[in-house]
Amino acid sequence: MDRINIKFYDSLNKLLKKERRDKELSLELKLRQSVKDLIEALGIPHTEVGMIVIDGKREEFSFILKDGQKIEVYPAFNDVEEPKFQNLINYPKKFILDVHLGRLAKYLRIFGIDTLYENYYSDEEIVKIALKEGRVILTRDRGILKRRVVRYGYLVKSNESKEQLREIFLNFDLLPKIKPFLRCISCNGIVERVGKGEIIEELEPLTRKYYNEFFRCTMCKKIYWKGGHWERMEEFTADFLNKYNKGDIWKN
Ligand SMILES: [Zn+2]
Repeated sequence: MDRINIKFYDSLNKLLKKERRDKELSLELKLRQSVKDLIEALGIPHTEVGMIVIDGKREEFSFILKDGQKIEVYPAFNDVEEPKFQNLINYPKKFILDVHLGRLAKYLRIFGIDTLYENYYSDEEIVKIALKEGRVILTRDRGILKRRVVRYGYLVKSNESKEQLREIFLNFDLLPKIKPFLRCISCNGIVERVGKGEIIEELEPLTRKYYNEFFRCTMCKKIYWKGGHWERMEEFTADFLNKYNKGDIWKN
């Protein structure tokens, strides 16, 4: 039986089973097995891989492995402030999230990041929209990311939503892209200033009485004003950015 040796570097080890981490693995090859198939059989979606080196030479995912080859696999993402490996892929700064990441979607929208999310999206729809619109798929599900057609994807590692936000900021270098309150939290539409006179009929009596500055989503028409909800969002963004810039890991 043909065998190969494979070693995973850095953060990729966290995606392997415990007993396989941080060591060179000697594995049996299947007939005409591509390096993509081998890596994904070990639980690592191809979207998490930044570079593959086989016998000292950089190769593609479709490379068919042969007996005795030595494979080195480097991560696309690092989850650390000072990555050892430069990510060679130029990722778009727009995203589509799977159905389990609703809170992360809201957080990204608060910062004005283009974020599609619907709790009824199927995996097929997510993949289709991502390809059509050039979006990065964010998911906790490795299965979606193993699909061959998926170009940009990221496996969200934390299950705590603010820590997830930190992961995305770090790995996609979002800080220069943020524009708090540009987007509607409900639908991702662009929010614009609107005159009080234009919307006065839609306001509750107390809102009408106490507030004068209003904004409206150009898509779903939701109205925003600088009341308690707005202030909580401002606090959230300030608090997150403060911790992020200090390099603190988010703990509630
Ligand atoms: Zn909206």
